[in-house]
Amino acid sequence: MTAQPIDGTALATKIYKKLGDEVKTLLQVGVQPCLATVLVGDDPASRHYVHKKQEACKLLRIEVLDFQLNSNISQDELVSVIEELNGNEKVNSILVQLPLPNHIDETVLHSISPDKDVDGLHPLNLGLLLQGKERFVPCTPKGIIRLVKSTGILIESKHVVVLGRSNIVGKPTAILFLRENATVTICHSKTPNLALFTTQADILVVAIGKPRFVGGSMVKERAVVVDVGITKSGGKFVGDINFESVSKVARLITPVPGGVGPMTVAMLMENTVLAAQMQFKNKDGS
Ligand code: NAP
Repeated sequence: MTAQPIDGTALATKIYKKLGDEVKTLLQVGVQPCLATVLVGDDPASRHYVHKKQEACKLLRIEVLDFQLNSNISQDELVSVIEELNGNEKVNSILVQLPLPNHIDETVLHSISPDKDVDGLHPLNLGLLLQGKERFVPCTPKGIIRLVKSTGILIESKHVVVLGRSNIVGKPTAILFLRENATVTICHSKTPNLALFTTQADILVVAIGKPRFVGGSMVKERAVVVDVGITKSGGKFVGDINFESVSKVARLITPVPGGVGPMTVAMLMENTVLAAQMQFKNKDGS
């Protein structure tokens, strides 16, 4: 048996088609969606991700304001840049690319206006997500749920195991699966005997940043496996799953590249269009 790949690129393409129509409608009423991308420093991987996001904007006719800031910018200076973008009426949405240099605390993200926070990482947006009243859902977790739903698998009553508990991937992913009435287990670096948990997962999500860490012996027969990890190794991108060995056990598996990555970008575009729609409605009073 070989697992079927879950094609994130194909699903993202479908989403772009729908978003293209929504952008067209906004343009017809005089609203030009606009995303400000803020990149601090010159990390090649971060530069690559920002470029991918800007290319998607171009495809959808979303305007981009590109801010490339020096890696030694201070916390206060970065907050000033964000506050200026908050006050700029032309800008609907703000993306600060992570990770930030070590001297900058990620609490700078708290200074992004919650109405423009398309990464969904402002405490207000994370709090709303926790309460089930979400507006902007973090892009990677949102993309993961869409990918799993696209397979037609019923999430309700399944056991979902999430490896990794970061604020950007692991925790919001667990919350979203809980909202779909799955039973959720979260594992992390201090979890002893990981395989005890992973082999019980009907749906296994791996977001730890350790290349090829999860092999076939850690996976339940016929499981759905979502590989979030991306690490550059030997000139190519690899995931946290050992694709060859897990493919022999799992039923469905996301490839790296071409699985979660394209969906993260598509969900950022969806959140950007949503921000423009919400701001237009607020202005219009309708
Ligand atoms: P992160 O902030 O470094 O968090 C990693 C998590 O994995 C932590 O919770 C850590 O546990 C846990 N962990 C580390 N080693 C482990 C081990 N041996 N066993 C069990 N758990 C372990 O990383 P992240 O931002 O969540 O990203 C994770 C991966 O996803 C990275 O490769 C990143 O590049 C990738 N990513 C991909 C996308 C995409 O669009 N495809 C988007 C975002 C991130 P502790 O909390 O105990 O330290």
